[in-house]
Amino acid sequence: MKKDKTKIEKKKDSLPLKDVIGHNLWALRQIHSASGGFIAIQLFTCIYFAVAEFIVDSWLLRHVLNRFQEGNASARELVITIALIYACHFVLWYVRNAVANFVMPKMRVRITSRITKNLFEKSLAADLACYEDPDFYDKYVKAMDEAASRIYGVLNTLCNLIEVIVMVLANGILLFTIDWYLVFFTAFPIFFGFLRKKELAVYYRYVADQKPIDRRKQYIRRTFYLNEYAKEMRLTDMQDSQVQTFRGLYGDYKKVLRKHGPLRTFLGFIGEFSGDVITSVGAAVYAVYLAVVKKSILIGDCAVTINAISQLGWVLNRSVTDFAGFTEHALYIRDMRDFLDYDPKIKEDPEAPVPTPGVICFENVSFTYFGAKDKVLDNVSFTLEPGKRFALVGCNGAGKTTIVKLLLRLYDPTEGRITLDGVDIRTLRLSGYRALFSVMFQDYKCLSMTVAENVMQGPTSAQDRPTVEHALRESGVFDKIETLPQGIDTTLTKEFDPEGAVLSGGETQKVQLAAVFAKNAPVAILDEPSSALDPIAEYKVFESMIRATSGKLVLFISHRLSSAVLADTVLVMEKGKLVQCGSHKELLADSHSPYAEMFNRQAENYFSEEVEA
Ligand code: ADP
Repeated sequence: MKKDKTKIEKKKDSLPLKDVIGHNLWALRQIHSASGGFIAIQLFTCIYFAVAEFIVDSWLLRHVLNRFQEGNASARELVITIALIYACHFVLWYVRNAVANFVMPKMRVRITSRITKNLFEKSLAADLACYEDPDFYDKYVKAMDEAASRIYGVLNTLCNLIEVIVMVLANGILLFTIDWYLVFFTAFPIFFGFLRKKELAVYYRYVADQKPIDRRKQYIRRTFYLNEYAKEMRLTDMQDSQVQTFRGLYGDYKKVLRKHGPLRTFLGFIGEFSGDVITSVGAAVYAVYLAVVKKSILIGDCAVTINAISQLGWVLNRSVTDFAGFTEHALYIRDMRDFLDYDPKIKEDPEAPVPTPGVICFENVSFTYFGAKDKVLDNVSFTLEPGKRFALVGCNGAGKTTIVKLLLRLYDPTEGRITLDGVDIRTLRLSGYRALFSVMFQDYKCLSMTVAENVMQGPTSAQDRPTVEHALRESGVFDKIETLPQGIDTTLTKEFDPEGAVLSGGETQKVQLAAVFAKNAPVAILDEPSSALDPIAEYKVFESMIRATSGKLVLFISHRLSSAVLADTVLVMEKGKLVQCGSHKELLADSHSPYAEMFNRQAENYFSEEVEA
């Protein structure tokens, strides 16, 4: 596995310039393919504002003031031009804030949605073995966490840089011809910090309103990439419910934008505009004093100097961080690309035949987990016939769950093969093959969705209600669910709904069992279906399991050997080997067999517990 071509290699945290450029260009291509006009709008906006600001603040002002001083312009012309400058400025800043608070977030939503969808699809396709590779997992989590912000980061950094270049060029040329005074006036915008404070308070409320939406988004993301959900997300339709909810969240996000966007735009405009007005007016008045009273400089030159100095100081300072930003983005994007380029070993082949239920055979199957030295399964062979019940028993760590994982093609055998009616399951259509099974895993967790969705393991409709209710009755938890505030429509967990239900371990297990009954697949697999149940509940669960799965192939793992009595065939595992196979009676016949010893030991313990009780 270590030499596997599909494995993502560990890479260094520094990059040659060529790669930095390559990864940053890749990010721009992603933005372009998600929303064609986005880059153009961003670049146009930043160049437009940089040039417009220079023309309005510096060139126009200087031109008109100098003309006035030289006696080439009337006072009326001067007043009109200054009024025009402020009107232009007003419009410029207002439009800029509107673009930043309305237009851009909307486009970002579209792009994030697309990037996240690609990552979701990729994460579902990733082999389960990847979860055991820490290097892969790091990149996986980083890709999910950083994807959108890093991709935008590239564009923002690029825009900042373009702005810097435009401003440095324009103001640099201007200052080259004028001496610089009046730097004092650059301090004026600081006095308008209080307005910025108000704006930040609004921003804080905006973030607070957005938090629950973000938390929900994070939760859904987790269900797509955390190991604990990986099996169910691959084998059921729960992913559809999650994707649906995820899409709905973007509607909520737009509402928050509508609620806070106008005030943020207004305050942002007032704060920035006022600072700008005072700086310009103050500098202009002082410049007029110098030029008219002291006659030491020209009025226009003085005014543009102030503006140029304040702009230059700000952008040059920022440009240092901007350059470093490209390398930082490239490192994250490299990891994200590695993750997206990963080619899973177990994947859907649309050309492969769709299987029908049949006889399943393990033929000399051995298996070693990624990074482990020892085999977890060693030359295991057995046959599972349709319509029969099989119990898989053995001590902890014997390899029972691993057999189930191989059976479901969450992993492929390291040696040997598994066949369905004589055909290697690796040659069958993955989705069609997995659809033959309904599974309840030992470590299954109910998702924060309604009871009905958990039972149907995906989105539900009104037609599903009888199926859900019947399945819950069969698993013996319907009475409890009926007492919940919204019955089968009650959300499980309180993570997002204060009225949500928190079920006990046993009740949760029964909901999961109901999911197996509801799916009604030809093969039912139950890994420790009664581990959280008391003996009476366990007896009832097994009774209903037999009823609900009659005529199907059932494979169940159970530590309590009393339930093995219900199986047609018992498979006994010991340290990765199949040591016995036969009916309960046959296996008990030899009182020294591993099964008989285990059975008698459990019977004794159970008896002594009863006596002590
Ligand atoms: P059982 O279901 O019989 O309790 P498992 O099949 O879960 O046993 O595990 C068999 C062995 O494989 C155990 O020693 C366990 O520690 C190991 N194992 C299980 N899963 C992994 C994994 N993902 N990576 C490495 N080892 C694992």
